[in-house]
Amino acid sequence: MYKTETHLHTAETSDCGHIKAKDMVELYHEAGYKTLFITDHLISWFFDGLKNMSWEEKVERFMSGYTEAKKAGDSLGMNVILSAEYRFKDCPNDYLVYGIDRDFLLKFPDVTNMTPGEFYNATRDDNIFIVQAHPCRDHVCYPTPEFVDAIEAVNTNPRHDNFTDESYEIAQKHNLPVTGGSDSHVFDDVALCAVVTEHEIKTASDYIELLKENKLTIFENKK
Ligand SMILES: [Zn+2]
Ligand SMILES: [Zn+2]
Repeated sequence: MYKTETHLHTAETSDCGHIKAKDMVELYHEAGYKTLFITDHLISWFFDGLKNMSWEEKVERFMSGYTEAKKAGDSLGMNVILSAEYRFKDCPNDYLVYGIDRDFLLKFPDVTNMTPGEFYNATRDDNIFIVQAHPCRDHVCYPTPEFVDAIEAVNTNPRHDNFTDESYEIAQKHNLPVTGGSDSHVFDDVALCAVVTEHEIKTASDYIELLKENKLTIFENKK
């Protein structure tokens, strides 16, 4: 069986991340994971802070956490895959997007000014998959099942109330597949959750296909 982390942040790109990409990858390697999705925050304040840079340069900066993680992962024989956790205009929700690459990022320079619905509609021709992260978190986030492909029902971040049962109910009601992730920012978050699969997840497509079937085993590590 293979363990995958679907949700983690690096200190290079996410201001709230406290672990450098290389260290993060090593921690997950020690915890027996084979695949990591790097889901740094794609959020307006990150790009605003880069002021005069071109969008191309900003995308490069955004990808720096992933780039470092990928180097570390390659040397350890792990699959490290670029993803992102998007936040849109005037909305507290977070959306994990899988199946992206540099070209996809470059395509939407105004993405943080879009609404979740606008993003969903604008990307239906792209081969991406949108998962709403922790849709009921602290009852501040709110579910938008009409604009996503799946629900992150399990999010083990210990500093928030996830309302896991409620998240499962929403997924079931709207016939959406479910997944889970650790949302790792600091040492205590690492490897609290895993998606466990019979076959190794080597690409975003591998994950998306399994997720679509809604047969992922979500493992929670109660430390
Ligand atoms: Zn964060
Ligand atoms: Zn996150």
